Amino acid sequence: MTAAPTVPFTRQLPATAEVVVVGGGLAGAGAACVLAKAGREVLILEREAAAAHKICGDFLSTETQRYLRRLGLDLDAFGGHVTSRLRLIYQKHIVETALPFTGLGLSRFQLDEALLDQARQNGAQLWRGHRASVASTTGSIVVDFQSAGSVRTSTLFLATGKQDMRGLRREPETAPEDLVGFKMYFDVNSEQRRALAGHVELVLFDRGYAGLQQVENNQVNLCLLVERSWLMECGGTWECLLHILLRSCPHLQRRLSDATPLLEHPLSVYRVPYGFVYQPPVGKVSGIYRLGDQFGVISSFTGDGMGIALHSGVLAAGHYLAGLDAGHYHRRIGQDIAGQIRRAGLLYRASRWAPSRRLLMGGAGLLPQSLKLAAALTRVTPSAVTRAMRLLG
Ligand SMILES: Cc1cc2nc3c(=O)[nH]c(=O)nc-3n(C[C@H](O)[C@H](O)[C@H](O)COP(=O)(O)OP(=O)(O)OC[C@H]3O[C@@H](n4cnc5c(N)ncnc54)[C@H](O)[C@@H]3O)c2cc1C
Repeated sequence: MTAAPTVPFTRQLPATAEVVVVGGGLAGAGAACVLAKAGREVLILEREAAAAHKICGDFLSTETQRYLRRLGLDLDAFGGHVTSRLRLIYQKHIVETALPFTGLGLSRFQLDEALLDQARQNGAQLWRGHRASVASTTGSIVVDFQSAGSVRTSTLFLATGKQDMRGLRREPETAPEDLVGFKMYFDVNSEQRRALAGHVELVLFDRGYAGLQQVENNQVNLCLLVERSWLMECGGTWECLLHILLRSCPHLQRRLSDATPLLEHPLSVYRVPYGFVYQPPVGKVSGIYRLGDQFGVISSFTGDGMGIALHSGVLAAGHYLAGLDAGHYHRRIGQDIAGQIRRAGLLYRASRWAPSRRLLMGGAGLLPQSLKLAAALTRVTPSAVTRAMRLLG
């Protein structure tokens, strides 16, 4: 099948569409792949005009890989970096163990665009380069796409990720933690590249943590989360923070001291609402399906946010195709991921507690068991993935 073209900005949106997907990340593009393949009329509205970097550790869990392959991506063709071991670093201590599955390091720049392209190949229309907002939800739903006009639909898949769409904001019950995230790609020297081969590294600090792993083309992704107060004490800028991190952590110093940054500026994010789970209004049925981070936000250290996004996309599309409304879908996705999100939050808080760090780093064989347990407690279960996959036929 030839791909439906990306529609130029100068044209106006069609007046109506069967399903409008706002946000062309993994959740939105994944859902659009399924709907378009089933022959439904799908319009994707994506803010970025072209492929863009995203703040993310770029770690693809086994569920993420399974979904992407099932949706039609030939993951082996992207040149991602296969990882099978975790190295945990705290102060001068380093311990390592096998991962409970094989992970993959692949940039979101490449991955998200490939999935959007797959959705287009399946027949979805992709409109991009503007910020969508909701003009009305009474009767039918009207989505405004700035100068490209607006589209009317009875079914909206809301997949705008961490950002809220104007008109349909999330309301977290608790205020997000005061954390700042940064991401930068580096070109490291050949010795450090060899040391990183096959590993994902998690570096713990007293007031944050960092993930380090290779992706395609030998690039190394450093993605970190730190308390904002610490960033300010360091001088308030990425450069100052990195300087202090390298000075205080010999491991990072070794990895990055002569590395070349590959992006002009780091990507950054502030106050991600970790722990948020959408609570649908009781008794009110609407045509709005919340997908990915718009439904629930899991702590980043689990490396499974993408898996959850894809799970929700496939599940939402499957429910819609089966004639089940958004209420049914929200109940199902809640059962599949709310416990995982809550447990990930508890584990994250426990990991910041000095005695638990000492136990983990003690080298008494606790790390492999802890890792297996953490994975079992925080990932979408294999049976939930299999159930969702069945919806794909
Ligand atoms: C610091 C950090 C590290 C992480 N590391 C990992 C990791 O290693 N592995 C992992 O699996 N998960 C990780 N995650 C989580 C993962 O990135 C998210 O859970 C996942 O991207 C959610 O997918 P999504 O499709 O819901 O949203 P997104 O991927 O954020 O996609 C949303 C899309 O919507 C578009 N958009 C937003 N607003 C509008 C609008 N108004 N109009 C039109 N388009 C709009 C955006 O441009 C974007 O393309 C990490 C998260 C953070 C914050």
